[in-house]
Amino acid sequence: MTPERSIYLSRARRIVIKIGSSLLTGDKKHGVKNSFLARLAGQINILKSRGVQCLIVTSGAISAGMFELGLKKRPEEMSELQALAAVGQSNLMHAYKKNFDRYKIKVAQVLLTREDLSQRHRYANAHRTLMKLFQHGIVPVVNENDTVAVEEIKFGNNDTLGVLVTHLAEADLLIILTDTDGFFSEDPRLNPKAKLISNVFQFDHGFEKMATRSNSIIGTGGMKSKILAAKNMMRSGVPMLIANGTAHNALRRLLDSEPIGTFFFPTAKKMKSRKRWLAWGGIPKGEIFIDDGAQKALLEKNKSLLPTGVRKTVGSWHAGEMVKIVGSNHREIANGICNFSATELNQIMGLKTSDLFDRIGRETSGEVVHRDNMVKIEID
Ligand code: GLU
Repeated sequence: MTPERSIYLSRARRIVIKIGSSLLTGDKKHGVKNSFLARLAGQINILKSRGVQCLIVTSGAISAGMFELGLKKRPEEMSELQALAAVGQSNLMHAYKKNFDRYKIKVAQVLLTREDLSQRHRYANAHRTLMKLFQHGIVPVVNENDTVAVEEIKFGNNDTLGVLVTHLAEADLLIILTDTDGFFSEDPRLNPKAKLISNVFQFDHGFEKMATRSNSIIGTGGMKSKILAAKNMMRSGVPMLIANGTAHNALRRLLDSEPIGTFFFPTAKKMKSRKRWLAWGGIPKGEIFIDDGAQKALLEKNKSLLPTGVRKTVGSWHAGEMVKIVGSNHREIANGICNFSATELNQIMGLKTSDLFDRIGRETSGEVVHRDNMVKIEID
């Protein structure tokens, strides 16, 4: 028997709603589309009254900035875009506030960078802030802190930000609202016979190609980044929906399990927060290359990594930081917290646990990466 959407949707107590830029921009008078935000606020009001906590991931700062400064063409230079985001972000928040005020719903601006989420203590701080906002019944409105995020450290697009914020907030569901009805077998603009895929039970690698071929249905990320987001969510044990935000009462109808949009069913048990951070949040400080015996022990027997299985290290890190574990043929095996600094590990690699004390002069349990602090990387 195939699972039902309603099983997940009726249980969703905390949801992340990602709003695509195409839904928010294009208002000739105000720049930010108030008509959309008014409808969104009304629907969130209903969800809140049912006890559902909502978090919004918004785009649209750069385009709001362009409107404010009267620019017709999006500049290419990064510092121009950052300046526009700085101008537009306040207009964007003003529009959210104005529309949510009507329902006496308070909103809070949260700006994040990829770096904030890559460091465990900053991640934990951001998590605590979100929990506090939820406690007060406030709707967090998250965007990337574009002013300081340069190309190399960007999330890339707000679909990816939506995924990471879903992990950060430990939400039960991610809804990506865009300007198309969901995920299609082909680009519906090019082939009117393209079929909407209503439910996805297993991630098929053909999807990535289909999304590439369809070459984005609009917005920064396009369908490709939404499909990658779905892959991440399904593997993390969290359902995801892609739906048309312009459809009447889309949010409320989705939560009522109406068969609109595309629903991606989770294919794994919901990962614990710590493991989710290891899998998707943290950025490894270095790499530990391991031998075949250790690779087998990790993958097949679910064991911790011991010094005897370590062949070499690349990079520099302190004890307690995150590393990537790499096996033969450069296969990425796992991410994990390393109990030794890179310098220490270089002194003890290849040794048996019983010989460690003599080499480093202190007692240690011996695990380089404990299995509880490790998350395996699924091969595509
Ligand atoms: N952070 C960008 C903005 O607010 C949007 C990025 C995106 O849409 O993917 O303009």
